[in-house]
Amino acid sequence: MISQTRAIVQQSLDALLEDQSFLPEVTGETRKKAFTSMTSILSTPNHIHKSFLRILLENGKVERIPAFRVQHNNALGPYKGGIRFHEMVNEEEVVNLASLMTLKNALHDVPFGGGKGGIIINPRDYSEKELNLISRKYVQYFSDVLGPDKDIPAPDMGSGEREMDWMMAEYKSIQPGLPYRGSFTGKSVVNGGSLGRREATGKGVFFTFRYLVHDFVRDQKGFLQKTDNVFAKTALGFENRPLTIAVQGFGNVGSVAALEAHQSTHLQNKVVAVSDRNVTLYNADGLDIPALVEFTMKNKGDLPTTDEQLNDIEVTAEIQDREEVLYLDVDVLMLAALEDQVHKDNVEKVKAKIIVEGANAPVTTEADKHLSDNGVIIIPDILANAGGVIVSYFEWLQGRETQYYTEEQVFNHLYEKMKSTMDTVLPLFFGDPFPLRQNCYIHSVMKLSTVLYRQGKLY
Ligand code: NAD
Repeated sequence: MISQTRAIVQQSLDALLEDQSFLPEVTGETRKKAFTSMTSILSTPNHIHKSFLRILLENGKVERIPAFRVQHNNALGPYKGGIRFHEMVNEEEVVNLASLMTLKNALHDVPFGGGKGGIIINPRDYSEKELNLISRKYVQYFSDVLGPDKDIPAPDMGSGEREMDWMMAEYKSIQPGLPYRGSFTGKSVVNGGSLGRREATGKGVFFTFRYLVHDFVRDQKGFLQKTDNVFAKTALGFENRPLTIAVQGFGNVGSVAALEAHQSTHLQNKVVAVSDRNVTLYNADGLDIPALVEFTMKNKGDLPTTDEQLNDIEVTAEIQDREEVLYLDVDVLMLAALEDQVHKDNVEKVKAKIIVEGANAPVTTEADKHLSDNGVIIIPDILANAGGVIVSYFEWLQGRETQYYTEEQVFNHLYEKMKSTMDTVLPLFFGDPFPLRQNCYIHSVMKLSTVLYRQGKLY
């Protein structure tokens, strides 16, 4: 488990052990043993499957490509999590991400466990035909442990609906006669994917921010004014004024979150900066996000990097170094690129008072503590970026029923589910001194402990 995740899970278990109102029927030594069992269950995955995919490249050479599937916990349902295609992905990272999936699904009441996969390649180094072979070999090597009621992969960094379509087709031919539509999610719509899946994570990221800062603060103003909670003071400080927003990462998650912010004109917020692997673009009066989205669609996902390119699309922006997005004087920073972006060596330079984690673990433990001690509200990954897995769940359901929702229905169901989680954790967050991440973890751990206890697994 990521050290941060492990530490917070342990703190949550320690707090629940002391809280006799939680599982009151479990007392004394039995209670201590039950909580020790929970620690061991949550800190280790159930299975780590590893293989070397044997691929015949187009140049005639044969390559053995390391690949993993980690199944962390399935107490709440089949394992669920993406397959990362990346040259730096490794077993430890995949284990970490699988454990985060267990907690994320528990938090949002999604009936799945936690899993994750990884294939150690840079997809840009392989032809389409080779990627097709790699994807199909992955399914061949792991087909025994995958399936709609066992373990349901989805896309992650470096993979998308194309790979999921290939993988589902391979699963179907390896397991003839078995249900196959729910074996992979994140497929193209024509292959049984859900409308809205591509935008789901970015929309969810923006929704958590909007709900906390605008809706919840407006509706619960009386309650917030009465508490002396430091985060309530931060939230109230944003009342009745337009906010400035910077977004790191302009891919699937970041570009959709930025577009949502740009289009929510009734909130009068401004997206003043966006960034990607090459640049930060800044305009104090607000950026033309639709024009930038259109540019990236025509340029392999990259933002403009020169004044000529900006002039061509009539976008006014200052070009800055890619890290500058983190240090701008803005109210809100949405992190939608990579892990470990805000860390102990740069946290002092971060000025935003609200951070929304679109990526997984973009803020390190030390930086998280520093920011939280200073009243910065961090909407954590486990809460903010769950839109993808929630809509994956809808895709899995639709595949079972062979009945499909409209895009509007998908987003309405998504917001309902995320609102329900926020309504559970936000009153606790503003009512006690813990950061929001800790409140979310306590909620997940409570759910998992209760289920495992009732399943008779905590001895
Ligand atoms: P993506 O590949 O579509 O986009 C990544 C973006 O980050 C690109 O704009 C890229 O240029 C930028 N980037 C890369 N390196 C950077 C750097 N050093 N500095 C600044 N920007 C950099 O990926 P995505 O699907 O948008 O995912 C973004 C993050 O969100 C990942 O960490 C992913 O694991 C996480 N996430 C994604 C989903 C999903 O449904 N896509 C769900 C949950 C979590």
